[in-house]
Formats: sequence, structure tokens, C-alpha cells
Amino acid sequence: MNKVGDNTLEALTSYFVKELESVVGIREAKLFFDRISEEVLGYAKTDRILNKSIRLSESQILDVLYKIKELKKGRPLSYVIGFQHFFGLSIPVAEGVLIPRPETEELVDWVLEESRTKISLLDVCSGSGCISLALKSKRPTWQIKGLDVSPEAVNQSKSNARLLGLACEFSLLDILKSESIGKEEYDIIVSNPPYVLNSEQVGMQSSVHDFEPHVALFVTDDDPLLFYRKIGVLAFSALKMKGSLFFEINERFGKEVSELLISLGFSKVELQQDLQGKDRMVKAIK
Ligand code: GLN
Repeated sequence: MNKVGDNTLEALTSYFVKELESVVGIREAKLFFDRISEEVLGYAKTDRILNKSIRLSESQILDVLYKIKELKKGRPLSYVIGFQHFFGLSIPVAEGVLIPRPETEELVDWVLEESRTKISLLDVCSGSGCISLALKSKRPTWQIKGLDVSPEAVNQSKSNARLLGLACEFSLLDILKSESIGKEEYDIIVSNPPYVLNSEQVGMQSSVHDFEPHVALFVTDDDPLLFYRKIGVLAFSALKMKGSLFFEINERFGKEVSELLISLGFSKVELQQDLQGKDRMVKAIK
């Protein structure tokens, strides 16, 4: 017999929560187990409540014991499980790509207000590919391309596209070193670039800081709009007339990003809040 006791899901639940509560707190430990149970073992919360004596195989138990060890090191749950739910998709993620965030689903939702079927779209700093893949899942006729500076991210997004059967193209590009990303060819450009200030690392969750790719997260305090300026300039040339640019932003810089886009020639700049009421997204029209 292993240390879980009998091999019931109920016994494993108690063991998991007891092991993890000192690391992440009891509330989070229970939420973690909900995801492990549903996404790894295949039992929804209601199954667990209705059928307390569900028995697990030895290999399922060993798998969860291994995951407990990884979680105790502080590794984010989505890396430990290997994917993250995003806009109705299970997006595979591993160290080296940023884990898709719920606020980015809100950006996708905004882009989906565009209902035309023939759209050419570019996703700059595409990471895991979550934005492109979510859009493609809802608008299969759109032509969608993603660009990212990180080879790990590009590989991951390509393999995610294959696995999910969503025909988006992803390529490697360092946007900061690029002179052009196209000429009047896109209807929409969307980007969630790095926007967390280096000084904001203090007070950040260590699972984010210690495990997620810094290249996807941080910018220096002396130039927080670095990516917005560069992408804004290149997007202005790459967009068709009346094309739209969507950005996810740091909540502190809504006004600055809006002013920047106006100075680059964009019009109809709109700032939108996320569900937490924070300035999180900007849309502008060429
Ligand atoms: N929203 C992410 C976070 O909170 C940051 C994403 C980004 O820098 N683009 O960690």
C-alpha cells in the first residue's frame, strides 16, 4: 500500500490537500485538486461528491504523488498538468511559454466583435499561440499568423496548432529588431507583449517569477512602452486602411498607450477594462 491509504479518490483528495495546504493555503490546495481530479484523473467535482468510493489505479496515484512533489517546488499547476484552459481550448504549455491568462480571453472576446469572414490577422508576441488559436477556433475562415522571439514559444505554438487541428502559422521574429512586418496586408493586428515593469517583480507570485519566461513578462522601468511603440509603428504600415490594432496593456499605462497610438496616427482609440475593473486593453483604428 502507498502512503495515500486505500486507493480511493477521497483518500487522495485529503492527502493532496494536507500536503499542499502549507505551501499554497487550503483554498488554493482545494482548487488545485479540483483541476487535477478533472483534468488528470477525469473526475469532475460532482463525480467526487456523488461517489466517494471511486477507486484509482496505482499508476494514477503515483502520477498524482509525483505532481504533488512538483507543486511543492512552486511549479505552476498548468506546467505540472501540461496545459491551460483558454477560451474553451486546452492549450498545451511547458516552461518556456507564458501560461495563458484569463484577462487575455477578454482581449480575444473583443477581437471577436469583428464578424466579417474574410480577415487577415497577425498576432505579435504570440507565445503559446493562445490568442491565435482561440480566434481560429471561433473564426475558421480567418487567415491567422503569429510571431514570437522565443524559439521555445514558436515550437510550442506550432505543435499546439497541429494538436488542436487549428491552421494558424507561427514564425520566429524579434519584433524589436524588425524593420517591417508587412505592408497594408492585415485587417487586424493583436498583441499581448511583455508589460510588467522590472520593479513590479517585488510582490509578484513566486510561481510566476521563478518559473515563467521573463522574456514574455518584463520590461525595464525606464521604457515601459518599448514594445507598444515598436509594434505600433510597424503595425501602422502593416495594417490596411481602417484596420484595427488591439493591445493587452499594463493597467498603469492606459492613458500613455492611448496617447502613443494617437501620436502614431491611429484614430478612434478605445481603452477597455478587464473583469477586475483594471485598464487592460486598447483598440485603435488606422
Ligand atoms: N498579465 C500577465 C501577468 O500578470 C503579464 C502578461 C504580459 O506581460 N504580457 O503576469
